[in-house]
Amino acid sequence: MTMSRCVIVGGGPAAASAAGALRAAGFDGSVTIVSAEDVPPYERPPLSKDFLTGATGAGELQLHPRDWYTDLGVDLRLGTRVAAVDTAAHALVLTGGERIGYDSALIATGGTARRLPGVDHDRVRYLRDLADAGALAKRLATGEPVIVLGGGFIGCEVAASARKLGVDVTMLEMADHPLQRVVGDEVGRIVAGIHRDHGVKLRMGETVQSVHAGDDGVLVTTDRGRLEGATLVVAIGLVPSTGLVARGEVALDDVNGGIVVDGYCRTSAPEVYAAGDVASHEHPRYGRRIRVEHHDNAIRQAAVAARNMLGAQELYEDPHWFWSDQYEHSLQAIGRGDDCDRTVVRGSPADRRFSVFSLSGGRVRGVFALDRGADILAGKRLIRSAALVTPEQLADESVNLKRLAVDRSHR
Ligand SMILES: Cc1cc2nc3c(=O)[nH]c(=O)nc-3n(C[C@H](O)[C@H](O)[C@H](O)COP(=O)(O)OP(=O)(O)OC[C@H]3O[C@@H](n4cnc5c(N)ncnc54)[C@H](O)[C@@H]3O)c2cc1C
Repeated sequence: MTMSRCVIVGGGPAAASAAGALRAAGFDGSVTIVSAEDVPPYERPPLSKDFLTGATGAGELQLHPRDWYTDLGVDLRLGTRVAAVDTAAHALVLTGGERIGYDSALIATGGTARRLPGVDHDRVRYLRDLADAGALAKRLATGEPVIVLGGGFIGCEVAASARKLGVDVTMLEMADHPLQRVVGDEVGRIVAGIHRDHGVKLRMGETVQSVHAGDDGVLVTTDRGRLEGATLVVAIGLVPSTGLVARGEVALDDVNGGIVVDGYCRTSAPEVYAAGDVASHEHPRYGRRIRVEHHDNAIRQAAVAARNMLGAQELYEDPHWFWSDQYEHSLQAIGRGDDCDRTVVRGSPADRRFSVFSLSGGRVRGVFALDRGADILAGKRLIRSAALVTPEQLADESVNLKRLAVDRSHR
């Protein structure tokens, strides 16, 4: 088949990365990005961090200046929503009815913030895009007390930013500790300590029963009491944006959410690929489907998808890396901590500078690090090289982990 028209649906980092990768691979046909947003692709991570505190302005978030798209000959159609992908006719259908034909299509539609049903008020805020962040920044600027619902990454980062601004913050979370679902009980306890030390009031193990928002404030009722604030930030997860595909035509993942893709980022529909937060990817390294909601994955996965759109046969097997900045701390992780038979701590949890290595059969599968970025770099090599290591080596700070990976990977 001749490949002369590539279309990309979405306006996030995955979309920008795919466009760049198509051109970098030498594709000289048409590349069109159709994005519902009014601004070119930008970085979302600062939205809950420096943008909220005012340290970074909107102009600094762009992934590439507009000229970059022009110079690459990418038709960037902003403020335009794709209503449907007509997989039989190989065409995108825009909300106004216009059709854009394609030879190959990438769906990189990310997701939207999960909403609380039946609560719609200016004092109840969500955080997914620049407009959300701008509105939340205005609420924080009032200096009035904030309730953060959800102790995941976004909830934790918003809490940290609000505290930096001197705002009174209460965090409500169903689990026993913030981030518990991602980092487990023990690390979750340490994360809780960090937030407490910065003045966040933690109400853990509480389930919200109702929310009432009015012009005077917000009242949250939980199974254990009531809580009043001026603003409620709802950070309870992401809903993948799959509404543009018909379930019968493109397989969806009922467990992870999102669009099912194989190891090559191909959906079940011919010449339709998916990448980024919306893709539930059959990961060759982990032998199961994983949907990742992190910036670096969006960029890397979309680049592989783009090359495969042009006919490459590239498996996407990145171990996934992400970071989260909270107060003066940098949390990072690479690989997976689940399905492991052993964990090893390196460094000092008491000093809040440590890493947790997760092993399976003597091989490192994942690393979580608090203020130990070097362990993440070493962990990446260990994961990739699948070197056999001992718990003693990992725990011993005199052992150079990077070298361990290099040495073993050459055997
Ligand atoms: C506040 C915040 C902080 C974050 N912090 C971190 C962090 O510290 N570290 C980290 O690793 N990750 C972080 N992330 C996650 C990271 O930003 C996402 O993983 C990344 O943006 C995913 O990129 P994407 O391109 O797949 O999707 P998105 O960035 O969600 O982009 C999807 C785009 O598609 C558009 N779209 C959707 N449907 C349609 C349609 N039908 N037609 C046209 N366009 C459509 C959307 O408007 C949007 O522009 C953060 C996310 C948020 C919201």
